[in-house]
Amino acid sequence: MRALFQTLTLILLLLATGAEAGEVDRLYVIDCGWAHATDQSLWSPGVNAGVPIDFSDNCYLIHHDSEGYLLWDTGIADRLAAVPDGVTVPALSQTWHRSQTLLAALAALGVKPADVRYLAVSHVHPDHVGNVEEFPDATLIIQKAEWEYGQKLPPKPFSPKNKLQLIEGDKDLFGDGSLTVLSTPGHTLGHQSLLVHLKKTGDVVLSGDAVHFQSNWDNRRVPGFNADKAQSMASMEKLAHVLADKHAQLWINHDKPSSDARRHAPEFYE
Ligand SMILES: [Zn+2]
Repeated sequence: MRALFQTLTLILLLLATGAEAGEVDRLYVIDCGWAHATDQSLWSPGVNAGVPIDFSDNCYLIHHDSEGYLLWDTGIADRLAAVPDGVTVPALSQTWHRSQTLLAALAALGVKPADVRYLAVSHVHPDHVGNVEEFPDATLIIQKAEWEYGQKLPPKPFSPKNKLQLIEGDKDLFGDGSLTVLSTPGHTLGHQSLLVHLKKTGDVVLSGDAVHFQSNWDNRRVPGFNADKAQSMASMEKLAHVLADKHAQLWINHDKPSSDARRHAPEFYE
């Protein structure tokens, strides 16, 4: 009986230690560019034709107490910070700007590129992977389908030298429930979102481009340029279930009003 009690106590101790294995202790929102577009309806077919819209574009620097820094998305290329009038994407009548470089924003936090141990990207569009090559030492975390899609694009979205971690489906990244990649295809075929568990803030889902702005989320609208509409609808439903299950917030990357309202680096969420 006593041996059994001791064994049970040991198991409970191990479980308790396991539960404390690691957690995200900081999440920084970093301004990684913004865009002005002249016609919102390219993102919401049939709705608000000719109405302009501004987009935010965030990077999220996450610190895990035992794994170190993970950067989620890298924004539009840093070189845009030197182009005051911005760069226009004619097909979308959208002009991109950068108020600061990602590297300068990280430096202001005392973080060097080599300190970023993991680099996870939602998908390979240029406003998300603009600075991947600045982090050659980081393990690049991307869905296998997205990686293969990117490698076939002319030109390739990036030519990273990184060690790759190719994911198929959902993945508890560090095995402790602190960061969970959620497969959310549709916008692109290997698109992913990230569920972040924060001690004080609670659970937050970083959308990537599973949805672009709040009214598209509220009405489950899919942009005109999109890889697979049915997949996009299914991915939004999946995210809605995660939000309900975890009582999580959805942080929509390109939704400028809600992004502007959030604390930005050097402030952080914990
Ligand atoms: Zn995109």
